[in-house]
Formats: sequence, structure tokens, C-alpha cells
Amino acid sequence: MTKVLHTKLSVKTAADVEVIDVTEMIRNWIRSEGFSDGILTVSSVHTTAGVTINEGESRLMEDIGMHLSKLVPKGAGYLHDKVDNNAHAHIAATLIGSSATLSVVSKSLGLGTWQRVLFVEFDGPRSRTIRCNFVGV
Ligand code: ZN
Repeated sequence: MTKVLHTKLSVKTAADVEVIDVTEMIRNWIRSEGFSDGILTVSSVHTTAGVTINEGESRLMEDIGMHLSKLVPKGAGYLHDKVDNNAHAHIAATLIGSSATLSVVSKSLGLGTWQRVLFVEFDGPRSRTIRCNFVGV
């Protein structure tokens, strides 16, 4: 019988820009629900934070945040800054994207050896929510 389940995971970010490895939180949910095989979507429900898949090496995670910030610097004359002064964060979040689709295979996340699920904050620190949806068995 096919299962369709949803959950929300909470993440507290501690800096303006921060990359957080959330892979174990997602693995724990898969284990706790007993998922075996299917498709899992992982989404940021925010417009200034995203989700991507890459290596979870700590210096690389710093590099990703730092260099995306350089690519889209604060206060560079954005129109949206007249509203709430965070256009840079919205634009950087569009570069990362808001979600990732993963496979669950034989009770494991179908990630490559070095792949991790990364939550990327661009307008912290804040309390954030990640929505996970699973369809499978
Ligand atoms: Zn805004």
C-alpha cells in the first residue's frame, strides 16, 4: 500500500548567511516512519532560504555561503530594499532553489557518497521550516 506522508522539520539558523547539513534530520524521519522505497521532496518554505544537495564538508559549506553572498552583495541598489532591505537574500535564494527531490531506496536516502542535503540561510538568524513529503512504500 502506497504511503503519502508529510512532515515539517525545524531549523534554527545562527548567522546572516549559513549552510546547515540537514541530512541526518531527514534520515531520522525516514527511519522513524519505516519508509523503504519511494520519492521524497525536501523544501524550504521561505523566500530567503533554500535547499540544495552538495558536499557537507564544513569549509565548503562556508565557501558556498560566502561566495553566493559576494555574487549578490547587500545593498546594491535593489528595488525590493525599499520594502524590507533583504533583496540580496531573495536573489541568492533563487540561485540555490527552494527544494530537492530524493529517492529512498531500500530504507536509505539515494544520495551519492559525498552528497548531503543542505539548508542555505541568506537572511538569518531565524527559525526556519523545512517541509518533507514522501510518496512510496
Ligand atoms: Zn523581502
